[in-house]
This record gives sequence, C-alpha cells and structure tokens, in this order.
Amino acid sequence: MRLANKVAIITGAAHGMGAVTAQRFAQEGAKVVIADMLEEQGAEVVSAIASSGGQALFARLDVQDDANWAEVVAAAQNAFGPVGLLVNNAGISGSAFDDPHDTDAWDVLLSVNAKGVFLGHKNVIPTMQANGGGAIVNLSSISGNAGQNRVHGGYNASKGAVRMLTKSAAVQFARDGIRANSVHPGLMPAMRTSGATADPKVRAKMLERVPMRRTGEPVEVANAVLFLASDEASYITGSELHVDGGYLAS
Ligand code: NAD
Repeated sequence: MRLANKVAIITGAAHGMGAVTAQRFAQEGAKVVIADMLEEQGAEVVSAIASSGGQALFARLDVQDDANWAEVVAAAQNAFGPVGLLVNNAGISGSAFDDPHDTDAWDVLLSVNAKGVFLGHKNVIPTMQANGGGAIVNLSSISGNAGQNRVHGGYNASKGAVRMLTKSAAVQFARDGIRANSVHPGLMPAMRTSGATADPKVRAKMLERVPMRRTGEPVEVANAVLFLASDEASYITGSELHVDGGYLAS
C-alpha cells in the first residue's frame, strides 16, 4: 500500500474532492483525519472509510482558527500518532460573489483559502520536523495561474497565494525532510459554494476552453494528490501539478 502507516490530516474532507481524496488515502493504508466544519457529512465519510476496512476520524476544524488547528493536530496525534501528511484542501468558491469589488468577499476568500493554508503549515510543520519529515499537498487551482471571468479576483489571489506558500515551504523545510507541492484542478464538479460557475450554461462556455472538452472527475484530482503525498514523489518538491484537461497549456 502506497501510504501504509502514514497519518494524514485532510481539510475540507467532508465533501467533494477532499472526501474522495480521504477515501483514496485510506485505501492506500493511511489513517485519515477528516478535518472540516461539516460534522454530519464528515461522519458519513468516516463511516464509508470504516466500512471499507480503513481508519479515519472526524475533527471539527475551521481552517481560519489557529487554536482550532492546534486541537486537531493534537487529536490526530493522540488517536493515530505523529502527522506525516497534510492536504490543505478546504476552500470556498470565487463565483459565490457577484460584485467583483466586494471587499467582504476579498476578506473571506483570503482568510479561508490562503490564511487557512498558512495556519495548516504553521501547526503541522513543527510535528513533521520533530518526526523526521512529511509531505504537504495544497489545493490551488487553474485560478492560481490565470484570471477568469465570473470569478472574484480574491479567489485568484488566494489560489496564487497557495501556489507561492507551497514553494516557500518547499524551500524553507526541504532540509527537514518535508516536501510541499500544489495541485491545480481545472473544471471540476461545482463546489458547495459555487455561484455562476455552477450554472450549466456558464459551464458549457467554460468547457470550450478545455482542450479535453470534459469536466474532471474528483478521483482524477485525488490520484494526483495521492501521488505527490506518497514516497513515489520523493524527489518532487515545490512543483505544481495541473489536473485540468490541458487548460493551462492552451
Ligand atoms: P467543496 O465545496 O465540494 O468542498 C470544500 C470543503 O471545504 C467542504 O467540505 C467545506 O465544508 C470545507 N470548508 C470550507 N470552508 C472551510 C473552513 N473554513 N474550515 C474547514 N473546512 C472548510 O469543494 P471542492 O470542489 O471539493 O474543492 C476542493 C478544493 O479544490 C478547494 O480548495 C477548491 O478551491 C479547489 N478547486 C476546486 C475546483 C472545482 O471546480 N470544484 C477547481 C479548482 C480548485
């Protein structure tokens, strides 16, 4: 198994791509902490993993809350042992806001999507340093590399920040045996918080820009995250993996 004996915290794992990633990690032998604000959905992911023979627990986490992060890292360590894998996946959509100059939107997008990743690094990296290393995979987006219509610029800025925070951690902590990489999904099933980009007409228009002319499957992103988290990626750090049907290549 590709993640045997590893302990992973995956944020935003109660729903969407995070939930699928948690299931893939558990299938490959990881003990997984489902860290999310959605308790009911999180408990369902834990049950699904347990009924397939995997190990998981739910920990309530608001990624914007430093003290809450410390509690989740402690809970993970108490239940499963030191955390060696961190997937910063939680996020909110940039199409949830109609006004491109909405300042509250800017604040919440940067707080959840960027500060949430910073706090994940802050709270998990010391554990990894103390225990011989680890691997971090951060969910950026094609929006971290390119601007788009109907998406608040705060989303692009937050995902650009994720991209660069990842490279910063890769450089600063490589000598501690810690790798950090970002994954950049393209057009995927809509997020819980998607607005305009959940509209089928808007999505059809967006698809015209995707060379493969189809939406990605959550498991296609989960498999990329799994690879980067695993020892198969042992010499890969500071890189960005585009899982986007060719969007950023065109
Ligand atoms: P989703 O909306 O289905 O799931 C996001 C999860 O994050 C939810 O379970 C939600 O409860 C959780 N979350 C939100 N705010 C949180 C907070 N403050 N603290 C803890 N958890 C919180 O989204 P998804 O489509 O699975 O997206 C996962 C990641 O991939 C996100 O970072 C997103 O920005 C990124 N992404 C998504 C797409 C897409 O088209 N769906 C494309 C590119 C990148």
